[in-house]
Amino acid sequence: MAKQGKLTIDESRCKGCELCVNACPLHLLKLSPSLNAKGYHSVMITDPSQCIGCAACATMCPDIVIKVEREDK
Ligand code: SF4
Ligand code: SF4
Repeated sequence: MAKQGKLTIDESRCKGCELCVNACPLHLLKLSPSLNAKGYHSVMITDPSQCIGCAACATMCPDIVIKVEREDK
């Protein structure tokens, strides 16, 4: 059965390094135009409905910014 992923992004911890952006096989992540409290462009998901919950982004992030939950579609 197809999986749907749900991301929780702790924007305040993100340093905008883009490791997760490059890790997403579906190219769903990009940096936000606005700045977080630390002055970085934090990551955001462009189309949450397309996320398959593979967790490549969360695995790649050195700062544990992204949490991924998976559920059946
Ligand atoms: S869980 Fe997978 S598909 Fe979803 S945003 Fe992260 S890398 Fe992309
Ligand atoms: S979520 Fe993590 S890997 Fe992605 S840009 Fe922010 S700090 Fe870097």
